[in-house]
Amino acid sequence: MNSYKKLLDDTSRLLSFHRSFGVDKYPITKELGAFLAESSENMNASRVQNKHKKSETASRQSTPLKLAGTIAEIRADLGDCIRCSLHKGRTSLIFGSGNEGAKLFIVGEWPNRFDDQAGEIFSGAEGEMLDNMLTHVLKLSRNEVYLSSLIKCRVPEDAHPEAQQISACAPFLLRQIAVVQPKIICAMGPIAAQTLLKTNKSLIKLRGRFHDVHGIPLMPTFHPSYLIKNPELKKAALHDLQMVRQQLAGMP
Ligand code: SF4
Repeated sequence: MNSYKKLLDDTSRLLSFHRSFGVDKYPITKELGAFLAESSENMNASRVQNKHKKSETASRQSTPLKLAGTIAEIRADLGDCIRCSLHKGRTSLIFGSGNEGAKLFIVGEWPNRFDDQAGEIFSGAEGEMLDNMLTHVLKLSRNEVYLSSLIKCRVPEDAHPEAQQISACAPFLLRQIAVVQPKIICAMGPIAAQTLLKTNKSLIKLRGRFHDVHGIPLMPTFHPSYLIKNPELKKAALHDLQMVRQQLAGMP
């Protein structure tokens, strides 16, 4: 009887926690069932990796990023950038901001038109979603993390950046990461994750476990804009962020 009550209490607490993060329903469609099965495989793989202490983070050696200037110097080097054609459509070049000594570095993909107008990444509804993730799951404020993006200028709606645009802009992100030296990187969105991990694997295959980027554990997860359009995936994002929180909790 006691164990039954404990199970009910635990379930109730878990539901409240999910609700605080905005999860108000659970997936039931065939596609999402398949997605969850894949996620479950990822989780099992992650457990096996932990058991044998052979996570990708631990087993794959990589060269640390070379420090090249301060954040202010990197911004100065970027200047009024015209290295790619995206400069033509921007109002703001959004470099990134936050705590330069942050343990967590959050990488978005590129500013949307609202960010471009506001001069800040993760503005509007996406910003509210991110703030919920930070406050309710990671127990952090924006001031405690560093926020930047793979690409610093607005990409037109429903378009994807070209390879040349990514290769022109990404080195500045890597320099920012080298200066901040975070304990963990969280890459939000497939292009951010695939670029940093140098892979074509889908986000669904990548998320749910840590990867190594120049010696720093990286957790890929969904971008807040994608979660707004696909709220049933919040549960999966919650899982990713809980792993980040647990990993951060065990770090000095
Ligand atoms: S997207 Fe990056 S590389 Fe392209 S113009 Fe903007 S700052 Fe320069």
